[in-house]
Amino acid sequence: MNTAKDIFKKHQSQTFPFPSCLEIESAKGSYIYDVNGTAYLDFVAGVSAITLGHSNPIITDAVKEQLKKYTHVMVYGEYIQSPQYKLAKLLSDQLPENLSSTYFVNSGAEAIEGSMKLAKRATGRSEIISCKDSYHGSTQGALSIMGNEEHKAKYRPLLPNCNTITYNDENSLENISKQTAAVVIEVVQGGTGFVTPTNNFLQKVRQKCNETGTLLILDEIQTCYGRLGTLFGFEKYNVIPDILCIAKGMGAGMPIGAFISSWELMNLLTFEPKLGHITTFGGHPINCAASLACLQHLLSTDIMEEVDKKEQLFRTHLSHPKINEIRGTGLILSVELDSEELTRKVVEKSLENGLILFYFLFTKTSFRISPPLTISEEEIIKGCNIIKEILDQ
Ligand code: PLP
Repeated sequence: MNTAKDIFKKHQSQTFPFPSCLEIESAKGSYIYDVNGTAYLDFVAGVSAITLGHSNPIITDAVKEQLKKYTHVMVYGEYIQSPQYKLAKLLSDQLPENLSSTYFVNSGAEAIEGSMKLAKRATGRSEIISCKDSYHGSTQGALSIMGNEEHKAKYRPLLPNCNTITYNDENSLENISKQTAAVVIEVVQGGTGFVTPTNNFLQKVRQKCNETGTLLILDEIQTCYGRLGTLFGFEKYNVIPDILCIAKGMGAGMPIGAFISSWELMNLLTFEPKLGHITTFGGHPINCAASLACLQHLLSTDIMEEVDKKEQLFRTHLSHPKINEIRGTGLILSVELDSEELTRKVVEKSLENGLILFYFLFTKTSFRISPPLTISEEEIIKGCNIIKEILDQ
């Protein structure tokens, strides 16, 4: 008889050769439970997606309420649906004036696709600049601006006119010119192990964009909804984008993304030709309801204020001679070890000991910590102790 693992491996397409194959039964708060009833403390949160913890009633109730009313009724942008417009308004209320109009999509990659199209449309230019070692999604437009040739080479030809700068390298900003439609940049660079901006790098990118008439697209797909202790990362680094891309944590476990800009820019997608971006399920009412509930909850509690304290707790309790550095900020942290082998061992052994950690796309010597924002102090300490015990061995 085929086991679930056999079926998973044979019939569910895989792209990662060594999946952990944890067979999930349920998830609650900061824990995931497998089919054998084993509890795993979740330090990853579905890669920064489960903002308020698993099965948070705030989210499940919002989903259930919306499910009772209606699910999909029409392609995006035709009917007035309260979860969508209420979320768009609440987002606009939190954002600077030039970020007042939201286009809801299905994922982070689609938010990036939409933002790139909008930038080309708005500037009449075609060059898009991104950072070396950046990741913005896996669709062909997003892949075109991925800053890693190994992942791109076999899928070429991709979009022409995609060039790079180096994150935190001011000198590379000279690559941004009057031919550049947009610079797409993460607030904290994820794939390289949560590298934070130094020396006001993002502000310097903003300045260069201003000088060249280039649009600044901030990819806040991984930093959004509170992960850095502010609702959006750009607030922490004092830079305002022309287009903001969000996804992951905004859905609190449900699939949704968005690109946000000024009404004037967004309006370009409405005419000549009309329907500048089309989606059937983008901004699905159930996912908007979840996102709205998550946003309302974050704005009415002190969850975001506690992020700094929780980061410090991780830093304090992860002090160990085998840990070289903890990068990142807020609740996206990267723990740097000596070797790829040790990193793999720690991630695997942690799982055996009931703790979920995960890898990065590019850096091989770090593991990620991006727990639900609702993780408790006790849970942080418990997980850190598991990591330290493994490192002791
Ligand atoms: N941008 C960043 C910074 C991401 O971390 C990701 C996903 O990991 C994406 C874009 C793509 O998002 P999605 O997987 O929802 O397409």
